[in-house]
Amino acid sequence: MNPSLPLSLDWEDWFQLCCPPFDDLHALDHFEDRLERATDLALQLCAELGAKGTWFCLADQAKRHPDLLRRIVSSGHCIGLHGLTHSRAFTQDRTSFRQSLVRGKAIIEDLSGARVLGFRAPEWSLRNDAIEYWQELPALGFTFDSSRAPLKILGDPAWSRHPYRLAENLWELPPPVMGLGPLTVPLWGWAMRILPEFLLSAELKTLQAEKVGTPLVLHPWELDEQQPPLPQASMGHRFAHRAGLRGYGSRLRKLWSGLNLVSLEAWIEAKESSEAAQSALVLLEAHS
Ligand SMILES: [Zn+2]
Repeated sequence: MNPSLPLSLDWEDWFQLCCPPFDDLHALDHFEDRLERATDLALQLCAELGAKGTWFCLADQAKRHPDLLRRIVSSGHCIGLHGLTHSRAFTQDRTSFRQSLVRGKAIIEDLSGARVLGFRAPEWSLRNDAIEYWQELPALGFTFDSSRAPLKILGDPAWSRHPYRLAENLWELPPPVMGLGPLTVPLWGWAMRILPEFLLSAELKTLQAEKVGTPLVLHPWELDEQQPPLPQASMGHRFAHRAGLRGYGSRLRKLWSGLNLVSLEAWIEAKESSEAAQSALVLLEAHS
């Protein structure tokens, strides 16, 4: 069996950008609801690849689509929290952020029947004023975060590209990035959809060979080729959101074929078991 790579999916609808009017309180009523279609496409892709993943879910969408949430769980996937709504963490003060975690986790756990151990902030937004908000996570029952992107603008290029412990009882699994000439770009989203496949394939092979557990990232709406254009979005947002949508499912079937994709929870469990076995061995050798 190939070394495992964690897979993460951000469960949100096609229009849910982190800016007005898409993050407005009533946005879910204004834009076409295409989440069932996108979820079906992502579940089908995972089933064909024999992949399991962690789906970071929005509580506002879970309330609208409890059946879909349960379908994700019954297909063998794990559920994490992507927020109460799809708004950036640093737009809230720390108390409001903590309350949103408590409410969001409770809603998702009640509706899914599954335990929520992981968190990913919308648009990797544990940055700026929210740079220390991850400290709230352990006391609320979270054992891992996946919000710290080692990239300019979305995070900090100085942050580690590999999983690490933010605290004794909290893992950070940062999203994957790759070098492109003088640039560092995400190994997900627009770059994964448009860069030449041979470059991406080489990066994926490296990630797998490193065995460090950097999680792959997919938004189910990226598989929905028929989605309408985003009205009122900036040129940058339109590019990041729509470039390379056509044929992305087929591209991923090729690029991810043969990868051993597992949930972030499964990767952490295996990692901690291996660390415990290693420690036991060291103790044994010290006493022999
Ligand atoms: Zn998101």
